Amino acid sequence: MSRAIYWFRNDLRLEDNEVLNKAVEENPEILPVYVFDESLLRGEQWGIERMGSHRLKFLLESLEDLKAHLQQLGSDLLIKVGDTVTVLNDIRKTYNCDVLYAQKASAYDEVQLEEKLSETINTKFIWGETLYHINDLPYHLDELPDIFTQFRKSVEKKADVRKLLEAPLQIHSPQGFGSEVPSMEELGFEPVEEDDRSVIQFLGGAKAANDRMNYYLWDKELLGNYKQTRNGLIGGDYSSKFSPWLAHGCISPRQIYWQVKKFEKYVKKNSSTYWLVFELVWRDYFHFVAKKYGNQIYQRKGILGEDKIDWGSDKLFHLWRDGKTGEPFVDANMREMNATGFMSNRGRQNVASYLMHQMKIDWRLGAAYFEKMLIDYDPCSNYGNWIYIVGVGNDPRGGREFNIERQKEMYDPKGEYQELWAN
Ligand SMILES: Cc1cc2nc3c(=O)[nH]c(=O)nc-3n(C[C@H](O)[C@H](O)[C@H](O)COP(=O)(O)OP(=O)(O)OC[C@H]3O[C@@H](n4cnc5c(N)ncnc54)[C@H](O)[C@@H]3O)c2cc1C
Repeated sequence: MSRAIYWFRNDLRLEDNEVLNKAVEENPEILPVYVFDESLLRGEQWGIERMGSHRLKFLLESLEDLKAHLQQLGSDLLIKVGDTVTVLNDIRKTYNCDVLYAQKASAYDEVQLEEKLSETINTKFIWGETLYHINDLPYHLDELPDIFTQFRKSVEKKADVRKLLEAPLQIHSPQGFGSEVPSMEELGFEPVEEDDRSVIQFLGGAKAANDRMNYYLWDKELLGNYKQTRNGLIGGDYSSKFSPWLAHGCISPRQIYWQVKKFEKYVKKNSSTYWLVFELVWRDYFHFVAKKYGNQIYQRKGILGEDKIDWGSDKLFHLWRDGKTGEPFVDANMREMNATGFMSNRGRQNVASYLMHQMKIDWRLGAAYFEKMLIDYDPCSNYGNWIYIVGVGNDPRGGREFNIERQKEMYDPKGEYQELWAN
């Protein structure tokens, strides 16, 4: 009888999960597994931990939710900590598995891991991270345009978003398979204290993702004003806040897309409904850029291969990190991220620009700190946006330097945001 490992990665959901469906169709028994890779859980880069408490909390909540859903289908989730290749090989041997299924990744390190795993295990990786399926792009990845607008226009014209897939009805797993979701403390992390200034109280998992979507689209119909409100800074209603759930795969971009289409049919269709999908296309673009350029998105010179800034010393990095630069708008944003694990898009653009253009500090430290702190950390969106602002990515204007004073006047004219995060 064939048994398969299903390795959950950034696809922590049962709905609209092509590779999970395939695994269930092709194998009578499935072993759902999640691995905390030691190198990500405890690793550092530039002296900055890779995993912060806010993101870990969200991830653990997502695993709890996934486990509960798996149990409803007759299965369970096994969670392990260790070196991913070793852990998965041990499970393969212990349970006598023939094959491993998992969602295919776009980012370099994750793709490398797939290759390493495939040396010892029979693997099936299937695409599933993006709104547009990679096989539906109107060109081979090598020909992916280096300018977003060209990409967007081509997919809007020539590609279709695929239909949603239902969750499996049942998943059979061996008797007694599964384990408890570890606590923060068991993993060696301090518990996180909620901050009531947080834009929303984020809760990981597919259920919470759907609750948020229902709130944003159907209960409050906030989607109808997204384009006018998306540059806000305070509170839950100014943008969708879908990013942490998307980053962990608690919800797929297609699930959001098809709800937007429904909203357009039953409530209204306007520039705001278009714009939310437009942003999901940005997300897609950074995933395809990461896939195309591999390791280059992590390099100081980016995909362009040249320095655009005369970099200085990193000595004052801690001031930026701790929200103590003396520039109140930058500091407020950094304090928000430190306290909650979230920062608005407007804030991210400004603090990134300040770090590189004003402080002349190597942008990779900032990106690494975002990786640690953001609950929506996604390698493609994070590094793609950083290199875009530096001017060594996909910005046809050669990078963005934000005038912080002007930004403050436009987006926080009464200083309310600065006041909220003054300490
Ligand atoms: C320096 C920098 C680093 C960033 N790092 C990340 C990251 O690690 N993870 C992440 O998900 N986003 C990142 N972003 C993009 C963006 O800031 C967040 O996706 C957005 O603020 C999340 O809030 P929201 O879900 O309310 O967005 P909304 O405005 O409601 O947008 C809807 C969705 O579209 C996608 N999206 C929106 N803007 C962007 C964008 N600029 N790039 C890619 N996707 C986008 C997100 O998935 C988002 O959830 C970064 C932006 C900058 C400038």
